[in-house]
Amino acid sequence: MDAIGAAQALSEIGYLLRQDPKEIYRARAFSAAAWALALERPDLTALHRSGSLTSIEGVGEGIAKVLKELVENGSSRYLERLREQMKQEARGDESALDFADYQGDVHSHTEWSDGRATMLEMAEGAQALGYRYLGITDHSPRIKVVNGLDAARLVAQAREMADVQSRVDGVTLLQGIEVDILEDGSLDLPDAVLEILDVVIASPHVKLRQEPAAMNERMLRAVSHPHVDVIGHPTGRRPGSREGATYDFEAVFKEAARHGVALEIDCDPARMDLSPELARLAMDCGCNFAMDADAHAPAEFAYVPMGMWMARRAGIPKERILNFKPLDQLTMASQR
Ligand SMILES: [Zn+2]
Ligand SMILES: [Zn+2]
Repeated sequence: MDAIGAAQALSEIGYLLRQDPKEIYRARAFSAAAWALALERPDLTALHRSGSLTSIEGVGEGIAKVLKELVENGSSRYLERLREQMKQEARGDESALDFADYQGDVHSHTEWSDGRATMLEMAEGAQALGYRYLGITDHSPRIKVVNGLDAARLVAQAREMADVQSRVDGVTLLQGIEVDILEDGSLDLPDAVLEILDVVIASPHVKLRQEPAAMNERMLRAVSHPHVDVIGHPTGRRPGSREGATYDFEAVFKEAARHGVALEIDCDPARMDLSPELARLAMDCGCNFAMDADAHAPAEFAYVPMGMWMARRAGIPKERILNFKPLDQLTMASQR
């Protein structure tokens, strides 16, 4: 098993452990080790042979034992046991996805809102990974604490993007927004602004515990909006700390499919949203997906190879995930 495969196994263990509040620290340790593997891609076979798996950042004796088994057998009894305990038994219809085919990420942040890196640093990070495109999708104005962008700042950002693009080869930058879905399902920026952007990710961030009928209306309205390309982290959950929104998932997913709006699998280990179970439901409803890191710094691009197990487990083939499509086949609302 290579580092990416092992990163996915550790990431799944972290995810399963997060379901138990007592295991939150252990969960974080597994997620952090998965992140180190996805970032550094060490040669696990060589490290195993020399008995130095614990030289990997964040890997202590316990995690090294899991890694040893993954290298030797390609599987982990600990993971299998957790799956059983959490009633998420292995299934025969997992899909085969290879990170080597991943073309680009359409959801990322920069210092223009709450990111911790400049646009140039993010673009260079994507370039280093061989991505063909990167969506820069900072926040919309409503949430003041993240310094969201209004129309005037988007214009200024477009100027910076032209400059950054001229300095970075190989990666096409897409200007987008992660626009807030307001309580009534309208969006936090006017249509005239959304229309000119390359990527529109509409996300629920606040008031996630609305009563179900109102939450339903809110999400149905968002997926029907003509300029929305992707619904970001569709429940807003934070496994282990915050329950996400509940609504009539089937009705909303079917409506999203009807409008050609993709649902996100946000691979940030703090989110992992959609869950594999909901992603499977969405696939059965005919939806397409975006599989993104929601990166706030270049190192967080590694969340995608870590989190790919979710789409695999949901049985989603790469044809249904827009990040596996080359740029000229990305169908966004502007081209629908
Ligand atoms: Zn978000
Ligand atoms: Zn985001």
